[in-house]
Amino acid sequence: MSTTAIATNIQEVLDQLGIKKMNEGASTGAQWINTKGEQIDSYSPVDGELIGSVKSATLEDYETIIATSQKAYKTWRTVPSPKRGEIVRQLGIKLREYKEPLGKLVSYEMGKSYQEGLGEVQEMIDICDFAVGLSRQLNGSTLHSERPVHRMYDQYHPLGTVGIISAFNFPVAVWAWNTALAWICGDVCVWKPSEKTPLTAIACQNITNEVFKENDVPEGVSNVLIGGADLGIAMANDKRVPLVSATGSTRMGKSVGEAVGKRLGKSLLELGGNNAVILTPSADLKIVLPGVVFGAVGTTGQRCTSTRRVIVHESIYDQVKDVLVKAYNQLKIGNPLDESNHVGPLIDADSVNTYLAAIEKVKAEGGKVLVEGKKLTGEGYESGCYVSPSIAEVENSYEIVQHETFAPLLYLIKYSGDVNNAIEIQNGVKQGLSSSIFTNNIRESEQFLSASGSDCGIANVNIGTSGAEIGGAFGGEKETGGGRESGSDAWKVYMRRQTNTINYSTELPLAQGIKFDF
Ligand code: NAD
Repeated sequence: MSTTAIATNIQEVLDQLGIKKMNEGASTGAQWINTKGEQIDSYSPVDGELIGSVKSATLEDYETIIATSQKAYKTWRTVPSPKRGEIVRQLGIKLREYKEPLGKLVSYEMGKSYQEGLGEVQEMIDICDFAVGLSRQLNGSTLHSERPVHRMYDQYHPLGTVGIISAFNFPVAVWAWNTALAWICGDVCVWKPSEKTPLTAIACQNITNEVFKENDVPEGVSNVLIGGADLGIAMANDKRVPLVSATGSTRMGKSVGEAVGKRLGKSLLELGGNNAVILTPSADLKIVLPGVVFGAVGTTGQRCTSTRRVIVHESIYDQVKDVLVKAYNQLKIGNPLDESNHVGPLIDADSVNTYLAAIEKVKAEGGKVLVEGKKLTGEGYESGCYVSPSIAEVENSYEIVQHETFAPLLYLIKYSGDVNNAIEIQNGVKQGLSSSIFTNNIRESEQFLSASGSDCGIANVNIGTSGAEIGGAFGGEKETGGGRESGSDAWKVYMRRQTNTINYSTELPLAQGIKFDF
């Protein structure tokens, strides 16, 4: 399909996904609630057009949604997990049917490439498949009791209402990572998506509603609340929400973590990164280039796993610098629905200003800007959200380098000596999400993966920092928040663990040999 055809059939996409010009901002599954909050207008960063509007949810709507979810939980927790899995299986099938329109809307509302939009929907499908298998494997352990004629085991029960707060940059996949697992675990979900991408959230809810209605799933198992931070703050403070899974900035995560912690609830925090790639003298530069460039400019540097820093050994530094600068000068920037473009827009004008200010800070701190990013104007750039990517030579200690700038600003940092010096630089930031090393030296790669190596939640060898497979547990350490979601045993956070001891004797022996006769 040609670019114009993709761009002009957005109305068809909206119709397919049940999105109107003006939409309600809350749903319990069975119905959309007549919300009366402030109007949110969703403009596409691709061409600046108004896509649609939403009447956001108020705190009164929040109460309705939470109450409905609490009621639904009483039924949902009694449905056998494989039966809940069957419904998630059907959701995965429905998502396959809607993959193209949903992928396109993700691209048009958020600004990532159409291929990445489709990739996000594919992640949703994959996590549904993963959750279906898992629905028969929510296993605890059988344990040996120290008391005779006793049996011990542990088992997992659902938690109740799970609150999900998500960011604009993965507007649909993060929701699916959480809900697919939470639902098979027997939880009910209340989603507060980013107010910057409300329409993709409405589309997800409409798709889910179709499947849930066909299966008579109770109203209140899948809920969405569209609006600003006030709804997320309400969730964080609400003891009826035992788990809050929050994805977004470290600033937001600190606020949510503190509020949830105060009431001794559970939080799963997926926050900002400051991801680095280490290039050692033996790095295969042929694979480095696509890994680093995609990692830094893909999704216009708006992935939590985007490559922010490249730590290069002095022996190959000039060569790497030349190759990167050359590659950056060839990047094509424009409509992300056109596959020939490498870089699309940033999410909004604020983000453009933050990016330009960060470049100025680099200069003010003494950094050397090798490729200076600019705001692009003229034909094709009418939305005002397009910028060209930057590369700068810096020191890791600069204040600006210590921060996550959510834009395509790549820092080059030189190291000398052995790999431990590079690892020290890589770990010398507050965040700890994704990291990688390119090397053909097994001593270096093993050192990087050892306990004295990378301190991040993700550590890759000969792969960039950006992106991850759903099969692994995803998340990071330090100011990235410590949460894990998606694959491996991340499901355990959506459940409470219970240890059971059963006495089938005629005596009552106490543990630790304690005697209590009377
Ligand atoms: P953001 O923090 O501005 O907003 C994220 C969500 O939190 C939104 O839904 C927002 O309404 C809500 N929110 C804001 N303040 C809140 C508060 N005090 N209490 C409760 N909710 C609140 O983030 P963003 O700009 O949408 O997303 C970009 C950030 O997200 C980056 O820092 C990126 O690294 C991070 N991110 C992390 C991951 C991860 O898995 N680690 C994934 C995606 C994005």
